[in-house]
Amino acid sequence: MTSLTLPPDELLAHRLTALGLEPTRPIRTHVNRTVMVSVTEKGVLRVHRGYAHASDRVLRAIVRFVTPRVPRDVRAAARRELLAFPVELYAPPSGRRRARERVRPGDEPIVRRLEELHATLNRRHFGGELNTIPLRLSARMRRRLGDITINQRSGSPAEICISRRHLQRDGWNEVTLTLLHEMVHQWQAERGHRVDHGRTFRHKARDIGIPPTADRHVDRQRDSEAVHHGE
Ligand SMILES: [Zn+2]
Repeated sequence: MTSLTLPPDELLAHRLTALGLEPTRPIRTHVNRTVMVSVTEKGVLRVHRGYAHASDRVLRAIVRFVTPRVPRDVRAAARRELLAFPVELYAPPSGRRRARERVRPGDEPIVRRLEELHATLNRRHFGGELNTIPLRLSARMRRRLGDITINQRSGSPAEICISRRHLQRDGWNEVTLTLLHEMVHQWQAERGHRVDHGRTFRHKARDIGIPPTADRHVDRQRDSEAVHHGE
């Protein structure tokens, strides 16, 4: 396949056409996050560049979304689906470029262990109802122990991040509490609650036996800043 060697923009156009977009439709990519996908008055399809990394399923949703005369409910479902894709993880907004952290050698077994831990805690405390979510370690967190990234457009959780220092310094028992804390935020987001340390957080935290306030997290991780809404 030659398409794999195309620049991301061309590859995206290529894939969208292969998935049913009219071949005559001009495509431009962008990196602002106010409007993910739109069609201009002149018929140009404007798509966020991050979608170059999306699955065919998501790209099919884009095609449905911009196809004229599709039923309203089909279009609405397509919109939900395309907005759920966390474009900002793949194409940061211009002017505030922040390269993705590379996965370090040796991280993989730790990430596997975090994934297993997430699955276990999900079964034990959330009835297995939470979605699987990408987990990773970060060396960039100085005071924070962990955080969760929420896709601002869709409101769905995109990623949970655990501080590498936290794991090295405090060990797995403490990391388990931090992960649970972030999983309560994940639960809030997936249930459509506000992601904060308010009443739903306190109730759920008490329910599963972690500190119902943000206490040590607040002191040590400035937790009010720990929830990125993908702004
Ligand atoms: Zn928190």
